[in-house]
Amino acid sequence: MGKLYDLLLQDIRFEEGLNACMNCGVCTAICPAAEFYKYDPREIVDTIQTKDEEKTEALLKSETIWYCGQCMSCKTRCPRGNTPALVIMALRTLSQKLGYFTDSEKGRQQFAIKRTVGENILKYGYCVPTYAVDPKMHPEQGPIWEHIFNNIDDVMDRLGGNLKKKGSGALREIHQKNLDELDKIFEVTGGYKLYGEIENYSEKKAGEMGLEFKKEGIDNEYFRHVYTCNSDNHGK
Ligand code: SF4
Ligand code: SF4
Repeated sequence: MGKLYDLLLQDIRFEEGLNACMNCGVCTAICPAAEFYKYDPREIVDTIQTKDEEKTEALLKSETIWYCGQCMSCKTRCPRGNTPALVIMALRTLSQKLGYFTDSEKGRQQFAIKRTVGENILKYGYCVPTYAVDPKMHPEQGPIWEHIFNNIDDVMDRLGGNLKKKGSGALREIHQKNLDELDKIFEVTGGYKLYGEIENYSEKKAGEMGLEFKKEGIDNEYFRHVYTCNSDNHGK
């Protein structure tokens, strides 16, 4: 048994997600990601159960493990009670811990997600609050979004929201004690440690790629690169 397989075994999601795959392909047949990407959950599960070190390492460095949308459709149909999505979660975490995620375009995007959604949840208590989705970074949202972003107080009032105010309602202020609780959760579950690893490996990769890297924020070359780079080579 390889070292990587041993590490995967330490992840409860892996233990829960893989009993014994009989290679029937039902998970792939139902998987929406497999319809659009070069992606095959059956193949991933089959590769893992070979316990082959080289093949597992290749998977951890690949684009493949980042294509899953975590819809859990595969869980509902597997005749062996496997959950490929949980196996993939464990693979993603291991890829982040070992720094292999920086070897793939989709993997490198982990850095952008950490600096945006990942930090938003700790700062605001929301993953994607309206005021954090700047149209300059999201031109695909179009002119209506730009209007909403620039007139958010007015729009939220008219929609019956409660923007950054106390009490109930959409986008209300999250109480400091809840933010402190989130902070504690990240601390005791190793979330901060994983964030740190994503940062460190990304900084190393930026150096290798000759791109500017800053310790904070999104105004740096490496962030822009991982955020916008699209080789357009992911589809079927
Ligand atoms: S549905 Fe289950 S048994 Fe069939 S290939 Fe997928 S993981 Fe293996
Ligand atoms: S959870 Fe992932 S692997 Fe499973 S069906 Fe959804 S996209 Fe496919």
